[in-house]
Amino acid sequence: MESLNCNSCGAPLEVPDSANYVKCNHCGQQLVVRRSESATFTEAVDRLAETTEALSEQVEELSRHNELAELDRRWELERENFTFSDKHGHRHLPDEKNSMIGGIVTVVFGCLWTIIAVGMMANAPNFGLFPIVKIVFPIFGVLFVVFGATAAMRNFQMAKDYKAAYRRYQTERERIIREQS
Ligand SMILES: [Zn+2]
Repeated sequence: MESLNCNSCGAPLEVPDSANYVKCNHCGQQLVVRRSESATFTEAVDRLAETTEALSEQVEELSRHNELAELDRRWELERENFTFSDKHGHRHLPDEKNSMIGGIVTVVFGCLWTIIAVGMMANAPNFGLFPIVKIVFPIFGVLFVVFGATAAMRNFQMAKDYKAAYRRYQTERERIIREQS
């Protein structure tokens, strides 16, 4: 027999060496007998349940934490698909306003080029290479307009897609955090 104390009321208990569970004669508390190398003591069963519950809550929180980290990691990768480099090597995300301004600038430049080129070529002579230059020179401006407008529309769409993807990510993140609390 071992001499222990009830963990709940402190009453002395005589416990068989092999017993893992014991009931306190004094207060009726169900007790678990804990044997470590240095000491033997009792622990109230509902306290044990509390410990288990706290532990499972910790595990749950950890898994939510992982879920959040996993979501963030996936978002980093997804955002990478939207990122582009400028001529200085700086990384940018698509922006609706910037792509619109870029498109307008390119189209205006292309129009001006075409108008000026047509004006300059109007009085050019019609021999040698002049007939070809008359056509090719203004066409540069037209190409500028076409490519500028196409690029602007593509960038604008990409900016919209990015915004939608970002909103999805934020919604998902809020959902995980909300479940946590
Ligand atoms: Zn007791």
